[in-house]
Amino acid sequence: MFELPKLSYSYDALEPVIDAKTMEIHHSKHFQAYINKLNENLDANGLTDASINSIFENASKYPPVIINNGGGYYNHYLYFETLTPGGSNEPKGELLSAIEKSFGSFDNFKEEIKKASLGQFGSGWAWLLVDENKELKISSTANQNNPLMDFEKIKGYPILGIDVWEHAYYLKHQNMRANYVEDFLKVVNYDVVEKEYLYAMGK
Ligand code: MN
Repeated sequence: MFELPKLSYSYDALEPVIDAKTMEIHHSKHFQAYINKLNENLDANGLTDASINSIFENASKYPPVIINNGGGYYNHYLYFETLTPGGSNEPKGELLSAIEKSFGSFDNFKEEIKKASLGQFGSGWAWLLVDENKELKISSTANQNNPLMDFEKIKGYPILGIDVWEHAYYLKHQNMRANYVEDFLKVVNYDVVEKEYLYAMGK
């Protein structure tokens, strides 16, 4: 059974970039709700022994309620893990080299992922992922889908995800998704993103 992961920072730690109320409701209500529904539905479908990765690899064979809540669990786990107070963190080392190789520069990468965030109609996510050729790619997905799911066109291992559901930003940023994405990019923990990158590269 899945459990709500504790954050390594407090709900107000990302102020004023992401406000405490949004963080609290997002983590303790939305994230918790995905976990509760995932657990309930895994149980109801006799799937308590299935790994989340095997479910995503065969996502098209599972009921939507499992995929929506399984994605809700996985995506939020990554989201909260890759945020950090302070915000001046920038990618370095192998991650920076890979970003420069794929997108030209760190600034251009930020423009590209912002474009993907704004281009996602309605609720969903924008991703930085390592694709099947071990190259960095940017994609966006609807709902709680992610690049690990078999039906996605751009598949791979996500190492950074921007939640563009309104629940992630509406209290502070209202309808201004672009401002929220710019703010999100100020509080990314690139040490964690690099750790995920090296894992995806088999290092
Ligand atoms: Mn969310």
